[in-house]
Amino acid sequence: MLAAADKAKALSARYKGLGAAAIIDHAVHEAFPARIAFVSSFGAESAVLLHLMASVDPSVPVLFLDTNKLFGETLRYRSRLQHFLGLEDVRVIGPRKADLEREDPQGTLSMRDPDECCRLRKTEPLGRALKGFGCWATGRKRHQTAFRSEMDVVEHDGETFKLNPIAGWSRGDVADYFSAHKLPEHPLVRQGYFSIGCMPCTSKVEDEEDARAGRWAGQAKTECGIHTVKKD
Ligand code: SF4
Repeated sequence: MLAAADKAKALSARYKGLGAAAIIDHAVHEAFPARIAFVSSFGAESAVLLHLMASVDPSVPVLFLDTNKLFGETLRYRSRLQHFLGLEDVRVIGPRKADLEREDPQGTLSMRDPDECCRLRKTEPLGRALKGFGCWATGRKRHQTAFRSEMDVVEHDGETFKLNPIAGWSRGDVADYFSAHKLPEHPLVRQGYFSIGCMPCTSKVEDEEDARAGRWAGQAKTECGIHTVKKD
């Protein structure tokens, strides 16, 4: 059996030149059958990956991380998109109540220590939810940040794989896909939010091309920690 690093490299090579739907189809049916989940924030561009997944198999589990700090618009958009796309298995995951009461009783940890807040509300709940899955898929794209610019289509963190089927897509590709498939837009996009996460850590941005600048604005932080996979 291939080591995880070799398997990730082999799959990335195999997927080179394939379209996103073909990549997802292979991952869902051949590489990780019944062992893959899609993780979605139901944010500004999430509809693209979810639509691609639903076109392959709408019964694949979708994990939605509700940090208890999300915009109400995102919660309502999740319901709307789930219905629109016919997603059959959306699972809401999040921090445990007891952990929140112990570690962030006032709900202000994001202001004092955002890394710890992301650990409590995102990284640990996602880690628990991913147990039992061999691979999770994301909608990250290389153009979004310097950290993501070298991202492979298939990565691994230990024995867990991560699939990035639209890694090479541009903002134009995303806009074209929204338009071609008449996908509903997150209601906050029209208000100038082009990358949408938790309420305390998301700001409007002037320039749509630099959407991620609206996340943890004014801080060095650019990632919540769920995507910092080990590289060989
Ligand atoms: S994005 Fe902000 S509010 Fe959300 S978990 Fe991270 S620090 Fe906390």
